Amino acid sequence: MLRRVLLAASASERVRQLITTVPLTRDVVKRFVAGDKAADALAVTQRLLGEGLSVTIDYLGEDTVDPEQATAVASEYVTLLELLAAAGLTVGGRAEVSVKPTAVGLGLAEHGEKTAAENIGRICAAAQAAGTTVTVDMEDHTRVDATLRMVSELRADFPDLGCVIQSYLRRSPGDCEALASAGSRVRLCKGAYQAADGFAFPARSEIDRCYARCMRILLDGDGYPMIATHDPRLVAIATSRVSTIGRDPSSFEYQMLYGIRTGEQARLAAEGAQVRVYVPYGDDWYGYFMRRLAERPANLSFFLRALASRR
Ligand SMILES: Cc1cc2nc3c(=O)[nH]c(=O)nc-3n(C[C@H](O)[C@H](O)[C@H](O)COP(=O)(O)OP(=O)(O)OC[C@H]3O[C@@H](n4cnc5c(N)ncnc54)[C@H](O)[C@@H]3O)c2cc1C
Repeated sequence: MLRRVLLAASASERVRQLITTVPLTRDVVKRFVAGDKAADALAVTQRLLGEGLSVTIDYLGEDTVDPEQATAVASEYVTLLELLAAAGLTVGGRAEVSVKPTAVGLGLAEHGEKTAAENIGRICAAAQAAGTTVTVDMEDHTRVDATLRMVSELRADFPDLGCVIQSYLRRSPGDCEALASAGSRVRLCKGAYQAADGFAFPARSEIDRCYARCMRILLDGDGYPMIATHDPRLVAIATSRVSTIGRDPSSFEYQMLYGIRTGEQARLAAEGAQVRVYVPYGDDWYGYFMRRLAERPANLSFFLRALASRR
């Protein structure tokens, strides 16, 4: 119930105004977001790489309604990739980028898919020049078909372009079957959005079961699975499956979000697994922040306590 309220609030302009204008919110946001500027993301990336982790950087923003803004977001990624390469952080693909389709135009009233595909193509070309990769984030269920279509078309020129499958959607095992082919980079997550029961599993236990099923399809397949979860049970299932089938540690990776279960990130890396941290930056952090609150009620009480204690 609380999750539904918070996810609904993540799309509300009035609540956004309220929360983003409270100066103290920023202190809590810092736990999940590297900072406002590309330089902040670079500093965090440098630190995490030094700790033996890999990184995927997200320039925060979504639901762009203006084509010029969509182009500006793509340009920000191009500059970011140049900065990462100049700092030597893209070697071996250790720092890559994640892009939200609606941030680069998918939601535009006219030619949304074409604009987004062109912008993602520009970012892929910059990533290729920098020696690294791009992963296209998955947003709400109404965007899944267009996003998978764009990825499939762009893979003709950029075969290492990654995509995301969300286990809360009933369709996802079928999508995993289609994507578990050689060279295909697929991030599996539970899904951070709301969808009607017809499309999504209503119960957490069903989402988790679907995650385990999708994970097995991807791990047993020929692609490059990216296991994105903080759930200790699912990480244990992945570790056990990998050992049973003898999958090489270089042929898959775990992924977690910046600021969440950092001890577990370090533990997996120390055991020889590849671990990539999703590092967001930028000042448009509201939607991302609200989804993190919705995932864990304890974050909400942490947030409310922080506000109350500074009054
Ligand atoms: C690298 C990465 C990329 C992602 N990309 C996408 C995407 O493209 N599209 C999309 O819809 N979703 C994406 N997500 C979010 C994902 O869908 C889930 O909403 C999120 O990861 C929480 O699910 P969980 O698997 O960690 O399991 P949960 O059952 O939610 O959490 C398991 C445990 O992890 C810890 N935990 C989880 N979330 C939090 C939190 N916010 N704060 C503190 N502790 C927490 C808690 O200890 C919790 O008990 C991504 C997640 C990761 C890690």
